[in-house]
Amino acid sequence: MAETQLQQISDHVWWMSPGKPDRPSLCAIAGTHYTLMLDAGASAAHAHLFLERLRAAGVDGPRYVALSHWHWDHIFGAAELAVPVIAHKQTAERLAVLAGYNWHDAALDQRVATGEEIPSCAADIKVELPEPREVQIIAPDMVFEHTLTLHPGGVSCRIQHVGGDHAADSCVMHILPDRVLFLGDCLYDAIYTPVRHYTRQRLFPLIDTLLTFDADQYIEGHGDTVMSRAEFIDLTDKMRRAATLIDQHGPNEEAIRAQVGQPLDEDTEYFVHTLIAGQPFE
Ligand SMILES: [Zn+2]
Repeated sequence: MAETQLQQISDHVWWMSPGKPDRPSLCAIAGTHYTLMLDAGASAAHAHLFLERLRAAGVDGPRYVALSHWHWDHIFGAAELAVPVIAHKQTAERLAVLAGYNWHDAALDQRVATGEEIPSCAADIKVELPEPREVQIIAPDMVFEHTLTLHPGGVSCRIQHVGGDHAADSCVMHILPDRVLFLGDCLYDAIYTPVRHYTRQRLFPLIDTLLTFDADQYIEGHGDTVMSRAEFIDLTDKMRRAATLIDQHGPNEEAIRAQVGQPLDEDTEYFVHTLIAGQPFE
C-alpha cells in the first residue's frame, strides 16, 4: 500500500491523498459543531485508516459522510464508518443495484466476462479486499436531487449534482469560506464503456459549471496533489484545445500530430484520443 498522507489544506478542510491500489482522496470538513466526511473510501481498512489519521491529528470523527458518486472505491468504506450516509438520488439507485451483487472472485470474474464490470476495477477490488471478501453496501440515509448544503459550524459545504462522462450521478462539494472544490471523479472520462472516452456534450458544459465555483483549491478523486485555480484552468484549457485540434485537423491523431509539428503534452494527447473515441457516443 502506498503511504497516504493526511494534511490540512485550509482552515476547515483535511485531505487524505490517494493510495494503492485505487484508493481515492478522502476529506474531512471540520466545523465547530461536527465533522463531515467526503467519500467513504475503498474498504473498511481505508475508512479505518482515515479515522485513525483524523484522531492522530486531533480532528473529531465524522458525524456524516457524503458520497461523490457510486463507484466502488468511493463507497465500500461506508459501512465501517457507522454514520448517516448522504447521497444523490442516482447514487442511491446505483448502490441498491450493487447491494444485490455477489462480490466473491467467481462472481466478479463473471461480471467482467459479461462486460458489467471493468477488468481493472475487478483487479483492484481483489487487491484492496482479498478473499474471503466481505462487502457491505449501505443504503444512503439522506438522499437529495440537485443540491444540498450542510453547515458543520463556521463552514458550509454545498453538494451539487454535476454529472459528466465518468458517472452520471457525479456530485462536487464546494466548501466556503475555504474556497475548496472537491471534484470526486467528475472530470475523468467514461470508464464503464467498451472504450474510455469523453463526449463534448457532457464535458464542456461540465467544465463551464465547475468554473463558476469560487475556489482556489481543487481536489480530484485520484490526483496526487491539490490543484490551484491556475492548474485547474490549465487542465480544462487542454481539454478545450484538444477539441479545437480535432475540429481543425479532423478526428485523426496522426494527422493532428503531423499538423501541430511538435509533440503534444501528455494530457492533451490523452484528451485528443478520448474525445475522438467519444464521437460515436455524441
Ligand atoms: Zn469513479
